[in-house]
Amino acid sequence: MVEFDGVDKFFGSAHVLKDIDLAVEEQEVVVIVGPSGSGKSTLLRCVNRLEEIQDGEVRIAGEAITAPGVDVNRLRQKVGMVFQHFNLFPHKTALQNVTLAPVRVRGLSEADARQRGENLLEEVGLGDQLDSFPAELSGGQKQRVAIARALAMDPEVMLFDEVTSALDPELVGEVLGVMRGLAEEGMTMLVVTHEMGFAREVGDRVVLMSEGRIVEEGPPDEFFDHPETDRAKQFLQRVL
Ligand code: ATP
Ligand code: MG
Repeated sequence: MVEFDGVDKFFGSAHVLKDIDLAVEEQEVVVIVGPSGSGKSTLLRCVNRLEEIQDGEVRIAGEAITAPGVDVNRLRQKVGMVFQHFNLFPHKTALQNVTLAPVRVRGLSEADARQRGENLLEEVGLGDQLDSFPAELSGGQKQRVAIARALAMDPEVMLFDEVTSALDPELVGEVLGVMRGLAEEGMTMLVVTHEMGFAREVGDRVVLMSEGRIVEEGPPDEFFDHPETDRAKQFLQRVL
């Protein structure tokens, strides 16, 4: 569903992604972990071309996103992204936040978008907050609106970049719960997180990045219980 093939990314002279090979299968949940600055966010941002790459190829559903003449907006519709800071429209209600893009970008009727938006907000446990403004919602609720908003575009893959890092600890669970539900429904997901419990329980595969490289990857039980590289052992010692 998402493939990285020999991807290199530079910021000026800084080589921040180094020869990345990674294939995320349909319905797979791949969790990316690693120290600050190792390139996790940059890797996610390359999927929808928020960052340009200097070498290699990224493909979504088999289609190279950097192919000449490719319609970036059409490709971006296949990819839902949720960030650490929710980036909701502050002057729109939860429901309006969710329906805006489907109406404007996908051409859904107001009525269809509304129906769909209500269902999605219901699914993330916010059926009773449709008309609330972001300022009236908790961090966890805002983040669930952000997830519903991304889902409203009917993406083929969802990217999550540390979506619980800005939340008070007691609000983390409700957001992880929504993500777990999505994974169980078969959503293809690429998740950057510091939540090792989530990585172990929900991830199909864990990928450790360090200094722009993938240094180890494997099924959660192997990664956490029998890390192979010194780098992974070191990382796990610090986070577990
Ligand atoms: P964190 O866990 O702190 O979020 P990360 O693993 O997501 O870290 P990235 O944000 O991908 O790391 O950054 C990887 C490297 O690229 C870092 O050295 C960072 O300083 C650098 N970098 C990221 N964005 C830019 C930018 N827009 N311009 C220049 N350098 C950047
Ligand atoms: Mg990051």
